Amino acid sequence: MKLNELNIAQASEGLRKKEFSAVELTKSYLDRIKETDEKIKSFITVTKESALEQAEEADKKIKSGEENNLLLGIPCSVKDVINIKEILTTAASNILKNYIPAYDATLVSRLKKEGMVMLGKVNCDAFAHGASTENSDFFTSHNPWDLDRVPGGSSGGSASSVAASQCLYSIGTDTGGSIRQPASFCNLVGLKPTYGRISRYGLISMTSSTDCPSIIARRVEDVAIVLEKIAGKDERDSTSSENKVDNYQEFLADENIKGMKIGIPEEYFLEGLNIDIRKAVEEAIAKFESFGATIVPISLRYTKYAVPTYYIITPSEISSNLARFDGIRFGYSATNDDSVEAKDLIEIYCKSKGKGFGSEAKRRIMLGTYVLSSGYYDAYYLKAQKVRALIKKDFDEAFEKVDAIITPTTPSVAFKIGEHSKSPLEMYMEDIFVSAVSLAGLPSVSVPCGFAKPNDREIEMPIGMQIIGKYFDEKNILRLASVYENNTNWHNVEPALK
Ligand code: GLN
Repeated sequence: MKLNELNIAQASEGLRKKEFSAVELTKSYLDRIKETDEKIKSFITVTKESALEQAEEADKKIKSGEENNLLLGIPCSVKDVINIKEILTTAASNILKNYIPAYDATLVSRLKKEGMVMLGKVNCDAFAHGASTENSDFFTSHNPWDLDRVPGGSSGGSASSVAASQCLYSIGTDTGGSIRQPASFCNLVGLKPTYGRISRYGLISMTSSTDCPSIIARRVEDVAIVLEKIAGKDERDSTSSENKVDNYQEFLADENIKGMKIGIPEEYFLEGLNIDIRKAVEEAIAKFESFGATIVPISLRYTKYAVPTYYIITPSEISSNLARFDGIRFGYSATNDDSVEAKDLIEIYCKSKGKGFGSEAKRRIMLGTYVLSSGYYDAYYLKAQKVRALIKKDFDEAFEKVDAIITPTTPSVAFKIGEHSKSPLEMYMEDIFVSAVSLAGLPSVSVPCGFAKPNDREIEMPIGMQIIGKYFDEKNILRLASVYENNTNWHNVEPALK
């Protein structure tokens, strides 16, 4: 087996048994990035030198035998909306294209403590607004399963870097589906934890009330290992939870799911859902039944309002969060640009934002400012918050009857680059199965569950199934995902890219 085909536990064992060193492991991933990234375009910044330094550090610790943790010396990538001290962090946006943070996000300092090796910062839709990476101000990433297709988004670079074996796992964010949808498009496991499970400190905020640092990897166990290390209360984020962090890995070992009740919401299996996706998810549900779970039909009545509600609340929070990038406090400033003339404060604001923000960020700022303005606030923002409460109530009631809920992750497989980029509404509809979970703040994991042939192509593209859990019950959705993974082979199918 090649070094960059290992999972975290295998790589960690190899390091400990001295079959290879962390430096060798890191070099094999750096080589892979060099070989493939011209085509895939996962990385905005490759941090070769610091990665090799971290790997040397890890080798010293392994040699001394004092450290015994699974992430020591394991190479990863990090979405470019997460601050890492002294490393360019752009949010894939022109307005931050020269931003070097002075501090680490909490999740990064936790990973550093574990001895991570960070290979670089990966592409995404600018400020995480999007579902394909086509809204990145720099370039679009490509899906390793078919280079003409998107890897999903906004954490598309996270997904493409893991799927192309450029790293073992990636940290992204999921605000309204951004880890689950790319996981489903790239045959990976993507976990969005409960809101507040992982600290948001050091994230470049998008929608503060739904932003969740999230994990993407090739195996359920990999995701469980990383979650355990980065979850938990952080004094610097008042919305982070005091709830105990479980030993997720231990939980995966218990494969008995007899008696667990799994809800299937009819609203997620409507017309328009790709027929192969429906079949794949229904087959997966039948498998869970054969393992002893009870399948319970349920209804989540407010599902159809999730996307419109999300696209009122999200731009509102975005318009407030992006206000800080005004050319004075943060970000690109017209005052430092010789090619731009800005005479007074208003011109500085307009020209800095005008040049620095891409069209999707501008669209969301305008939409958000509009719905928050007096006269429209009650009609849109307040109404959306009320519907959000109903969406949450839907789930609360369902979870009185069931332990988990299964749905498709996306209504179609990965689409072609350019297919939806002309129509923001079409792109927003991508979130149809993932946004309700985000509005409710629930945990949810997408797992590979089959392949479908898009009409126009011979190549089969991956399908993902979404398993939604009760608040802070990551352990049970990961367990269900793991039982499914252990009894199927989808996750072992590799993209053709060599
Ligand atoms: N597609 C969604 C959006 O554009 C989700 C983004 C995200 O989760 N960051 O808002």
